[in-house]
Amino acid sequence: MIAIDGPAGAGKSTLARALAARLGFRYLDTGAMYRCVALAARRAGIDPEAPQGPARLGELARSAAIELGERILLDGEDVTAAIRAPEVSELASVVAAKQPVREALVARQRQLLDSGDWVAEGRDIGQAVAPQAELKIFLTASAQVRARRRAEELQSDPKQVLAEQALRDARDEGRAASPLEPSADAVIIDGSERSVDQLVAEVAQLARARMG
Ligand code: C5P
Repeated sequence: MIAIDGPAGAGKSTLARALAARLGFRYLDTGAMYRCVALAARRAGIDPEAPQGPARLGELARSAAIELGERILLDGEDVTAAIRAPEVSELASVVAAKQPVREALVARQRQLLDSGDWVAEGRDIGQAVAPQAELKIFLTASAQVRARRRAEELQSDPKQVLAEQALRDARDEGRAASPLEPSADAVIIDGSERSVDQLVAEVAQLARARMG
């Protein structure tokens, strides 16, 4: 098991996917699960801040049919593009701060990760989901580099992306439930100045050294 955590836009998905392909491991994108819950909540008209909001979100997180793979399916519908919309990104970090949502999704993630070899990507994999992971990477990059990459991906204004990203970072780092921070035994890598190939080679090397 390899855990890859870090802030939004650090390049975790690109690294995790390429690494999984290289090592023949499966890839788990836990952010996509939080995004699916956010999309489902939006469609159901659930207000996360209402008195019953967190409980209703938790129920949704337990019951939503989420299929992860090349395409992401939510209750049978292909939502691969829909969950990347900026308003869903924003709502995902709001619902992810609610304890009932985290409990439900962490339980589902542990069940998935129970057998086989995995590269799992998220914010709390090394700390909460899979503290037993043989290798934990905390991938960072400067706020500017992260915003530039996201802006290119979304074809939107880098300044606006930077502002929205700062909000999400603050929410992810400041929440009471599993705040974003590297676990003590994580290898911290700054990807700002490295290519994907360099990163994959570096982490694959670390994995080989740890796992033999
Ligand atoms: O990684 P991604 O940007 O797709 O994640 C969307 C949101 O889900 C993040 O901003 C974060 O708030 C939340 N998240 C989380 N824990 C994870 C994965 C994602 O809180 N393991």
